[in-house]
Amino acid sequence: MSEPATRKAERASAVSESNEAVLAVRNLKKYFPIKTGVLSRVTGYVRAVDDVSFGIYPGETFALVGESGCGKSTTGQVLLRLLLATAGSVHFRGEDVFAATGERMRRLRKQMQIVFQDPYSALNPRMTVGAAIREILQVHNIARGEEAFEKAQEVLVRCGLDAQHVGRYPHEFSGGQRQRVVIARALALEPSFIVADEPISALDVSIQSQIINLLEDLQDEFGLTYLFISHDLSVVKHIGDRVGVMYLGKLVEIGGKREFYHEPLHPYSQALLSAVPVSDPLIKKKRIILAGDVPSPANPPPGCSFHPRCPYAMNVCMALVPQLKPTESGRYAACHLVHPPDADAVREASNRDAHY
Ligand code: SF4
Repeated sequence: MSEPATRKAERASAVSESNEAVLAVRNLKKYFPIKTGVLSRVTGYVRAVDDVSFGIYPGETFALVGESGCGKSTTGQVLLRLLLATAGSVHFRGEDVFAATGERMRRLRKQMQIVFQDPYSALNPRMTVGAAIREILQVHNIARGEEAFEKAQEVLVRCGLDAQHVGRYPHEFSGGQRQRVVIARALALEPSFIVADEPISALDVSIQSQIINLLEDLQDEFGLTYLFISHDLSVVKHIGDRVGVMYLGKLVEIGGKREFYHEPLHPYSQALLSAVPVSDPLIKKKRIILAGDVPSPANPPPGCSFHPRCPYAMNVCMALVPQLKPTESGRYAACHLVHPPDADAVREASNRDAHY
């Protein structure tokens, strides 16, 4: 997964010069109801995404990381309206995604595409890949007939396949080729923003780097902005510009890649990074083993939801929810160690606890 340093540097500088977010996510929540009994009464909620806010800037790759089940994929699907949000807002280039209907929503869907983790289930096994791409071009009134056929060939070639592959069915491709087809289908609509949801985790290690390089090449060529969802911090270190860490449905840290990998702020980020293998056998890393399991998002612990596993947990952590706030260096963390709460807030939280 090699990349010229200049290319990354150019992209990083483009990100820092822009202060207008392509995508602004505010207080996003997605709760799934828990239904029990013959009457399917709602007895609780799984808080898959719980009050998440972040922005993504033009041309950058914002990586959303965390353990399986932390809510990162749900976040990606909710902001594209593939799942209905429980609360919050998403604005794409200033347009309210959740309020859009009709032609406005169709235009937004064209602009915002997704590449799913599993290229096997993302394609219709009964359609040739050319037909699948032509169908999406027709639905969005981009091209029909011969023009759509040529466009399908063009995007397949751009994604490293052969023009003759338009006549093939999904089962005739390898896993890596199928993911190229899925990327080509997304690219056919000429989007400016792509959610890449674990796009390489279902692929052989030997071809993962090819797909990552393809995504980076397309980003450079078409000025794409990515939300890159992954549990693999080694991959994110390569492709990400900024990193957001999720734990139990909440964002606990956001920061530039360099600072994040050099000195993570949140204890959970520190534990995740301590588990990333290093290529140099002379470098000895101390692995941070977290105690216990991830709590249920249906019944998260009070206060900081990470406190039952945190090696630095204090009394205040059990009573007061830490807010995601900026540090002086412009990074964000939700931790009482990074942002010590004032005495009034601690007293209020303790009184609330005593009351309940
Ligand atoms: Fe650990 Fe407390 Fe920070 Fe939560 S708020 S991560 S429990 S130190």
